[in-house]
Amino acid sequence: MALEAVTVVVRCRPMNVREKALRCKAVVSIESTRGLCFLQNPAAASEPPKQFTFDGAYCQEHSTEQIYNEIVYPLVEGVTEGYNGTIFAYGQTGSGKSFTMQGVVEPSAQKGIIPRAFEHIFESCAENAKFLVRASYLEIYNEDVRDLLGADTKQKLELKELPEKGVYVKGLSLHTVHSVVQCEQLMETGCSNRAVGYTLMNKDSSRSHAIFTVNMEICTVGLDHLRAAKLNLVDLAGSERQSKTGAMGERLKEAIKINLSLSALGNVISALVDGKCKHVPYRDSKLTSIPIGPLQILEGCYEVSMHLLFSRLNSPNSLILSSYGRCS
Ligand code: ADP
Repeated sequence: MALEAVTVVVRCRPMNVREKALRCKAVVSIESTRGLCFLQNPAAASEPPKQFTFDGAYCQEHSTEQIYNEIVYPLVEGVTEGYNGTIFAYGQTGSGKSFTMQGVVEPSAQKGIIPRAFEHIFESCAENAKFLVRASYLEIYNEDVRDLLGADTKQKLELKELPEKGVYVKGLSLHTVHSVVQCEQLMETGCSNRAVGYTLMNKDSSRSHAIFTVNMEICTVGLDHLRAAKLNLVDLAGSERQSKTGAMGERLKEAIKINLSLSALGNVISALVDGKCKHVPYRDSKLTSIPIGPLQILEGCYEVSMHLLFSRLNSPNSLILSSYGRCS
């Protein structure tokens, strides 16, 4: 598969025990061969379902292994060859973002995209004589940037710009890693330093965006040049509508900022997918100001706002792999 600037895929998760017990009706259906996702409005059952086209559409029978091999493998392989890559999971709380990104140990086919990407990177490093892998982990909370692995995780960091370096986060710590286990340990340490809020939808749903970056520098035997690239693993705050979460006060303030940066992200993606846009509005939020290279998105949500994003992304060059929740 050729690497597009933005690849979007959709993944539909199976119904959970609660949804089955409540005899919920499935409102999402997937046609994998044509990359189609259909949404049936339960309040208008006589109307035909809305149809959305993605670069890839995966249903409950598909494994994370298949998604990795078909969608994520080329992107991570590109990173080992010197191209930056980014993977997002986007969607409402409970739609399956963590299941896809972090995954489960058993069955092994459902091992997450993050551990698979780490393994992929270190396997490729093993084939080269000299390599350096360093990781960083930052959080964007209420439009403030903090270093989740820094000496002071409360300190706000500034975005700076240099002509030769572009936009960067001043003072962000970089940590040398030699193995998958070390990468996972850093991620765990950073996660425990994240700002966590409580909403009615999910008691520990994250209210911040976090970017874990694997910086690779490889010196291949026989070649005299150094290849350097970054793989960004982005964990976006939940995209649920605030009326559903019962957010008030500080939580509502957070929610407004989250929605602002998610809509800024939607605008950036639209401009990238469009291809004809002269201006890509990267600077509208911290999330989009930090340069994270080409985007790869794992979508998971059935919210109206998401449909808007989906329809904007609905171009022949885009792939969507998303996990849809189910609607009662
Ligand atoms: P999110 O991170 O979007 O809040 P989770 O990844 O925690 O959602 O998923 C919610 C629940 O659904 C979890 O119990 C998870 O194990 C389950 N789940 C999600 N996707 C799948 C899938 N493809 N197959 C089986 N179970 C899934």
